[in-house]
Amino acid sequence: MSIVKNKISRQSAPFGGRVTYDTSALNGLPMLEVVKRLNHTVRKSGKNDVMLCPFHEDHHPSMVIYEHHTQCFACGKTVNVIGFVMEDSNKTFLEACDWLSQQFGTGRVEETSPMATRTARRTHVARRLSVRKHPSMEQSFHGDWTFSAEYVASHVSMQDSFCKCLQHVFDKEKVRYVAEMYGIGCFGIDDTMFPVMDADLNVHNIKIQHYDTNPLSSGFFHKDHGKAWWYGKKYMETHPDKGDTFCDVQCYFGEHLISRYPSAIIVLVESPKNAILGTCLWPQYLWVAAGNKNMLTRPRLQCLRGRSVIVMPDADAEQEWRTILDGMRDIATFVFSSMIPSFRDMGSKCDIGDWVVERMRN
Ligand SMILES: [Zn+2]
Repeated sequence: MSIVKNKISRQSAPFGGRVTYDTSALNGLPMLEVVKRLNHTVRKSGKNDVMLCPFHEDHHPSMVIYEHHTQCFACGKTVNVIGFVMEDSNKTFLEACDWLSQQFGTGRVEETSPMATRTARRTHVARRLSVRKHPSMEQSFHGDWTFSAEYVASHVSMQDSFCKCLQHVFDKEKVRYVAEMYGIGCFGIDDTMFPVMDADLNVHNIKIQHYDTNPLSSGFFHKDHGKAWWYGKKYMETHPDKGDTFCDVQCYFGEHLISRYPSAIIVLVESPKNAILGTCLWPQYLWVAAGNKNMLTRPRLQCLRGRSVIVMPDADAEQEWRTILDGMRDIATFVFSSMIPSFRDMGSKCDIGDWVVERMRN
């Protein structure tokens, strides 16, 4: 079995659904029309369309309606089209998508995917996280954060900053396929969420990151405003007593795919970003991200047992990875990628992401 697909088939993507919604299309609907259909009164304030914020006790219209999202300048709440419908009319994600697709006659996609039913069956998963619970990232660290496969499946989108970068380089259908395969979604306006799931689709944590989307900038494809946020892991560190509602064991990004592609050669990289880029470039391999060298432990590596693994760390980590994996040869066959020297030629911190950007420029 191979995952080579010249023609991208959405049906093989784990987070496609039996009936799915094109969330990009739905989130691309005109926000102004959406709020009007939900019977909100809109008025002009300067050049802005404004309304009373439905998310706090608002007496003067504090919510500005932008093309595809709203932002409240009193309570800070910012939501996209689907998020607005969910919260304003107390709908689930799928109900909101359904309502939007019926109202506007767009965005509904019929397809079959075995994973859709599987995801739907996971009713025991941790309480579903709703958008209304994250007023800001900092606050959310102290909130009750758990993620389920259902949450991931319903938040796959291509509106995030990383998928925007990808769409400068790869065609949209390919990006969509990869996003669904790994469950990449949008957090807030366009932060990217990378869910880290095991073979049973337990979501161990979610990495949130924002990317510089300007292809002309030297930072293109690199993380923007510095920080990456790990939801879940952080939560476990500060709430060890909540272990029963949360999977406290780490795993690799892309681990949920390993058993689904039993004969694919695996490429092990450091970051989720690189796993996704690798998949876009060479989909015949199954790309998995370990995180860092501390994740190269015997228990963690078990998911690779018996497999052929091409190892592709960032240039500066090669030696350490070689030393560690030399002691793990009973688990899997590890072969270091012949591409690493070409990363090193570009600088000690360089990786496949830099390589892609460099190729794009030439
Ligand atoms: Zn508000």
